[in-house]
Amino acid sequence: MMVVMKEGASPAEVEAVAERVESVGAQAHVSRGELVTVIGVVGDREHVANLGLEGSPGVDHVVPILKPYKLASAQFKKGERTVIDVEGRKVGGPYFMTIAGPCTVESRESLLDTARAVRDAGAQLLRGGAYKPRTSPYSFQGLGEAGLRLLEEAKAETGLPIVTELMDVGDVEGVAATADVIQIGARNIQNYSLLTEAGRTGVPVLLKRGLSATLDDLLMASEYVLKEGNENVMLCERGIRTFETAYRFTLDLLAVPVLKELTHLPVIVDPSHAAGRRDLVLPMSLAAAAAGADGVIVETHPEPDKAICDGPQALRADGFADYLRQLEQAATLAGKELQAV
Ligand code: PEP
Ligand code: MN
Repeated sequence: MMVVMKEGASPAEVEAVAERVESVGAQAHVSRGELVTVIGVVGDREHVANLGLEGSPGVDHVVPILKPYKLASAQFKKGERTVIDVEGRKVGGPYFMTIAGPCTVESRESLLDTARAVRDAGAQLLRGGAYKPRTSPYSFQGLGEAGLRLLEEAKAETGLPIVTELMDVGDVEGVAATADVIQIGARNIQNYSLLTEAGRTGVPVLLKRGLSATLDDLLMASEYVLKEGNENVMLCERGIRTFETAYRFTLDLLAVPVLKELTHLPVIVDPSHAAGRRDLVLPMSLAAAAAGADGVIVETHPEPDKAICDGPQALRADGFADYLRQLEQAATLAGKELQAV
């Protein structure tokens, strides 16, 4: 349930309500809006109901949150949208964010080349996997820690914050030390211990929709991160598996407006993995912006033909600036604010 405080309720009154909630073993998540403070209460419904919070000083009213996800629900923020600030680069609300980089970190040279190209074009964040979820155990699995060191070097040189994937609970410290945003891949969004650990780091989390995950599944995954007190979660539509085989996955762009109705969290789109083909990335990026997405994450490579993985879907680094100009026009038309870096 959700405790809505009165306008002007004092911090002591908010604190007193949170303490009473916690006294019965439930969690209190305080969200301070412009006008009112709301306390999301997660825990045993009956114990909380017995507290009779309606009569407490500073409380305006108490409402049930009907969705199974509480902290992620749009209702929890009373219509306000979450804006995530990653070292001054924002996503959500009015802000559109572009994240670009290789599928996997391959070598110092190719990573730095890509990082410079996407930075010069105006992308906000650099992506690149050091740990890769590969369908075949015989495929390249990523450079691991050496990849994290290269990402740090790319950040030091270009200033671009890093998005990189966490696949295993055992790597959480190392990944969290390098990542400015921890990516949880499509194959892992129902790995609940991984979600919990990612939440505990306090580092913003990018959650990719699973290949056969419903929007509710995705939102429940986000709830695992949020319940750890980590409010910085962005959701990513990256294509789902359907009967269609003409492209890699089916990009479910309806998910964008529908998620934005259901949740206050930013919603971004990954057209690269859905399309599997470079020529489809621009049209689907434009469509994502038109659908109201808060950003895109795309794969880029200086020499896609030589890429170790996902080369066919990687934008050429030397054509990236052109791509971004067109995407920015679409985002502007959709009412988004672009960010000068
Ligand atoms: C990736 O971003 O490189 C990736 C493997 O994505 P997904 O988890 O969506 O397949
Ligand atoms: Mn990839």
